[in-house]
Amino acid sequence: MADKRLLVIEDHADVAELLVTYFQALDFDVSHADTGETGIELARLKFPQLILLDVGLPDIDGYEVCARLRQAALTRYVPIIFLTQRDERANKVKGLELGADDYVTKPFDLDELRLRVQTAVRRASADNLHEARTGLPTATLVEEELLRREGEHQSFADLRLILSGYNAYKDVYGFLAANDVFGFAARIIQDVITARGTPDDFIGVLGDEFVVFTTAADPQAVSSQIIERFSAGITTFYHFHDVERGGVLINPGTATERFVPIMALVQVAAETE
Ligand code: CA
Repeated sequence: MADKRLLVIEDHADVAELLVTYFQALDFDVSHADTGETGIELARLKFPQLILLDVGLPDIDGYEVCARLRQAALTRYVPIIFLTQRDERANKVKGLELGADDYVTKPFDLDELRLRVQTAVRRASADNLHEARTGLPTATLVEEELLRREGEHQSFADLRLILSGYNAYKDVYGFLAANDVFGFAARIIQDVITARGTPDDFIGVLGDEFVVFTTAADPQAVSSQIIERFSAGITTFYHFHDVERGGVLINPGTATERFVPIMALVQVAAETE
């Protein structure tokens, strides 16, 4: 995974520092919060693929943080590993019941923690729960989320967005660059939904399609803003000469030569459920 994002919610400065340094050295993009409320905020903003969550926090405890992350659609499916004190067996059960994926007791062994972290991330992608390029919920979880909403008779807009020109870009620039663009699109959607949507909004990926369930007052305005922000930033992913001519040439100089414009996010469907 090119972009491994980890969120550490831990108030003990030394422990937090140790975790941040250790996982940064393993190429994780690490965010850190030292209170439960900032942790919840960062979970929405930073889009982590895994959260390490301390139980004893100064404002609200880790259980409440976990419960609130599980209630909000944007963070419902992010794997969580609890950091607990020894002799907290009853609490471990409580954490697992609240939807934590694993727990590690303090003082922890860093190698063991690394294995737990890698296992949690791998399990989430192996079970087809999280899309590899973005860490966003995919197939099974998108389906679950849809069923949950139908079960609760929720009214929401279902927006579908695709990247037009994505395959041509991948042909010319390679899959790593294409993955970066996919991640860039995901982050814009995340930013706009965080700023303009509601805590119950959901973002997932099916194949190369982004799925957004939103209860924002004006879903079309949300969609337009996503599309505009993508267009404003996408040229930085192209070489200068492609930007100048407005796209890429596939099979240049051959009979099958064709021109494919600079990528755009395109809304392919919008339904109100
Ligand atoms: Ca603590």
